[in-house]
Amino acid sequence: MSLLPDAKKCSTCLVCKPTSDFHRSTKRASGLQPACKPCQRETRRAWRTAGRVRSAPGGPVDIDLSDLDEPVDEVLTDAEILKAQAPSKPAPKPDIQPDIQPDIPAPTGPLKRVLIVPDTHVPYEDGRAWNLMLKCARDWKPDTIVILGDFGDFYSVSSHDKRPDRVRLLDDEVASINVRLTELDGLNASEKYFIAGNHEDRLERYLTQKAPELFNLVKVRDLFKLDSRGWKYTPYKQSLKLGKLNLTHDCGNAGGQAHTKALGTFQHNIVIGHTHRMSVAYEGNAAGESHVGAMFGWLGDVKGIDYMHQVQALRGWQLGFGVGWMEESGVVHLAPVPMVNYACVLEGKLYRG
Ligand SMILES: [Zn+2]
Ligand SMILES: [Zn+2]
Repeated sequence: MSLLPDAKKCSTCLVCKPTSDFHRSTKRASGLQPACKPCQRETRRAWRTAGRVRSAPGGPVDIDLSDLDEPVDEVLTDAEILKAQAPSKPAPKPDIQPDIQPDIPAPTGPLKRVLIVPDTHVPYEDGRAWNLMLKCARDWKPDTIVILGDFGDFYSVSSHDKRPDRVRLLDDEVASINVRLTELDGLNASEKYFIAGNHEDRLERYLTQKAPELFNLVKVRDLFKLDSRGWKYTPYKQSLKLGKLNLTHDCGNAGGQAHTKALGTFQHNIVIGHTHRMSVAYEGNAAGESHVGAMFGWLGDVKGIDYMHQVQALRGWQLGFGVGWMEESGVVHLAPVPMVNYACVLEGKLYRG
């Protein structure tokens, strides 16, 4: 038992008081708590009012205030008393801004799958390439299908000279085209769009020149039963708007740079057919926008065409098709699917034709 002085100055009220006015402490050299009993009681009441607890090895515990006048060893330390007396400050706000760009809406919901079917030139399609495209599509299950034009060749009504061994009647061609359309219908896409190309336009030009009286009687959309099949029709030289993507057969250009020329014409996202080539280009502008111009090859048989040297066609034309994933915002993320030796890869999966 240590000897205690007769009086001690309270660290809180700074009044000199008899040592009997202080709780004992085995941790301090003086053997007494620094604050007098009334001051300590007041401090502990303040703690209780503020809902504060003291930590203990077994977890947080409430301060036992049941007998304030009894001496206790485990009462508040000086630091705890000062902390309790200090006015409580709000927790500092973290100096981190959330990574949100408010003008770009975040993608929500599932992406819509868009299958883009380029020039097929039925009945001169490449059967193996067509079946490979269908095989991918049956597996991939597109929500939307877009035919980019020149789906039928319309050789029978072409104004060009025709090879006698190649002439077919229009009804033969139309029957073949309807077979292929029925196969696309079998994919059960919820939206279907048919864009007419210059080859579909051959029929209108033929009627205009040779049988204008029949002009309103013979229509591509009727011959292909597009309305009853649920296909929406876009006439030649017009474009379809799908979300933020424009699609048309051609903008009056052919060749390897037709897609960049179309990008210049539209000043917006644009997919074209007609060239039978496969290429994608991106172009930004001073406003910080970026637009895409794309062409997705073809599905025709190079041996079936007679309007281009076969070597030239083999060099520039590419078998394949296109796909897109559309966000709810209308942004369509495009990807070409080229066929190499009648094999192609879609979403990391290899398909062989
Ligand atoms: Zn064309
Ligand atoms: Zn074509």
